Amino acid sequence: MLCPKCTTLDDKVIDSRLSKDGMSIRRRRECLGCETRFTTYEQIERVELLAVKRDGRREAFDRQKLLSSFVKACEKRPIPLATIEESVSDVINELESGQEREISTKTIGAKVMEHLHAIDPVAYVRFASVYRRFEDIGEFIEEIQSLERRAPSSENQKELFTKLPS
Ligand SMILES: [Zn+2]
Repeated sequence: MLCPKCTTLDDKVIDSRLSKDGMSIRRRRECLGCETRFTTYEQIERVELLAVKRDGRREAFDRQKLLSSFVKACEKRPIPLATIEESVSDVINELESGQEREISTKTIGAKVMEHLHAIDPVAYVRFASVYRRFEDIGEFIEEIQSLERRAPSSENQKELFTKLPS
């Protein structure tokens, strides 16, 4: 790092500290030329993503919003928050590693469903039922049946069926 005083390029790190939120690392450095001390911050380079809504409107992709919808879908389910957060991070990493900077809410929703399906079938159906705005109960039941085909012997599955609206 270029010394702000003498422009020497060599320095040594004398202290490294993780920020409170864990999102950046603060480093105190000392120039090897003139011993000036300065501070640098290191953080993950985030790609700016835009969510494209059905009507074509764009808005900044909101990590918090995504987390909230996960938490809501997993409400009263035996799923640790850490698992939910990890899954949200996975979704975001996958979206960020793609070529597209503008991502339809449909694509985001599909990705969320993929991850919720891996966590908990009830959470998955809850999210899917809201997200896809099932037109009728037939569609809803179809969804659950296809879920059953994918994971026929899951313990959670039985619970799901007892909760099925009649
Ligand atoms: Zn210097």
